[in-house]
Amino acid sequence: MFEKQTKSIFINGEWQELGRTETVYNPATMEAITEIAYGGAEEAEAAIAAADEAFKSWSSLTGRERSKVLYKAYELMVEDADRLATILTSEQGKPFAEAKGEILSGASFLLWYAEEASRAYGEIIPAPAKGKRLLVIPQAIGVVGAITPWNFPSSMITRKLGPALAAGCTVVLKPAGVTPLSAIELVKVFERAGLPKGVINLVTGNSQEIGNAMLTNKKVRLITFTGSTEVGKHLMREGANHVKKLALELGGHAPILVFEDADIEKSTTLALGSKFRNAGQTCICANRLYVHESIAEKFTTRLKEKAEAMKIGNGLEEGTEIGPLINEQAIEKVEEHLNDALTKGAAVITGGSKWDGDLEGNFYKPTIISNVKDDMIIMSEETFGPIIPIQTFNDEDVAIAKANDSDYGLAAYVFTENTSRAVRVSEKLDYGIVGVNDVFPATPEAPFGGIKQSGIGKEGGHYGLEEFMEQKFISLGIDE
Ligand code: NAP
Repeated sequence: MFEKQTKSIFINGEWQELGRTETVYNPATMEAITEIAYGGAEEAEAAIAAADEAFKSWSSLTGRERSKVLYKAYELMVEDADRLATILTSEQGKPFAEAKGEILSGASFLLWYAEEASRAYGEIIPAPAKGKRLLVIPQAIGVVGAITPWNFPSSMITRKLGPALAAGCTVVLKPAGVTPLSAIELVKVFERAGLPKGVINLVTGNSQEIGNAMLTNKKVRLITFTGSTEVGKHLMREGANHVKKLALELGGHAPILVFEDADIEKSTTLALGSKFRNAGQTCICANRLYVHESIAEKFTTRLKEKAEAMKIGNGLEEGTEIGPLINEQAIEKVEEHLNDALTKGAAVITGGSKWDGDLEGNFYKPTIISNVKDDMIIMSEETFGPIIPIQTFNDEDVAIAKANDSDYGLAAYVFTENTSRAVRVSEKLDYGIVGVNDVFPATPEAPFGGIKQSGIGKEGGHYGLEEFMEQKFISLGIDE
């Protein structure tokens, strides 16, 4: 499936290996999958130099020319989806069906931006005086440093590579340490698609050294980062030294508001899909449920039935619905949040412990808790695990206020069959994304991104392309 190899660093079209290596594990079985090269500052600097050199020719191509490579990469990804999904599940743990969904959704970003590459329009502004013409032209920003997380190790990369390459930027990519294999495979896809040397460079290894090179090297004009708010703040602080442009997709703490007119069957399925996808390790997954008190009992009973029916196990086994958490620390965080809640009076409706199956990995049972209070850690911090805390409400404004009482502002959800309420509540929620009876809002056509401490900038849609471009204003004096 995945060739055992240490050549995981790709600079100027060459795969390199180093004396230093790092082991990649399967989180379901804890077996070692392979070794990869552990790079650092030196490799990052070489990658930046290669990207800078390649920028001259790549950015001067037409949008259509760049589009051809993106389109080819899209086709190759789709053709190879089963193998890519198997690799993704092996290094990350999510069920194969989810992994394949991620590969196909990731590929769709390449398709969309293959189409957008020819549509980076400028503007002609009416001049205030004769003898002048005012032009605005968008131009690729330059070399981009892209840093990505482990929870979506493929699509978080294509969401950046698609628009970056379409805009004419070149890239140095640093994937998460625990999930580098999907990144390696993606780079190989682009290699096969005919991407010129130096346009994408991949450096696996020491995140601080690679990140510092991106922060301190003036040739890197934009850092596009998806990951924790903590690291995002670090990049903002250090990026200030060079007034580095940043695009940040950070953490979230999504509320779901379930109103009294919601369809119980549909809502419980949606809540389950939101919370337990990727075992709760999703930036936009539900972290808090506010359920109207008139339907709370019915809703909770049905949710419990559905949660208890979920199949836990190795993501490569057919029918698995919940895979492992990424590592031991993830389990510790879940337990810390649960213990805090129980100490403060919460009750376990179902789950509440590790899964005692026959696999070595870090599995946790889908868990639902009630009697939840606002001061419990789980109500304000990202748990990144399969626990749903449920609170009840009886007033729309109170529910909105509670939902908005968060430092995060990535995604929020509203379950209702009342259109007026859907619009009214959506408009009042302080979140970058609102899903109404929809918990899978990410799509290449639309802007994805948070507000408040969930980030800066958007991925997806024409907004996504604009992140990688600067608007140059040309003021033209002419003879009338
Ligand atoms: P993380 O610890 O912030 O790591 C993200 C990436 O940053 C990894 O590649 C990591 O490398 C790297 N990194 C760590 N320290 C760094 C430093 N000092 N300088 C430069 N890079 C550094 O986050 P994570 O645990 O992988 O991902 C989970 C988080 O991502 C959650 O908060 C989740 O909500 C968020 N997320 C947000 C979105 C969104 O679209 N808003 C999407 C997915 C995930 P190493 O792994 O090698 O240390």
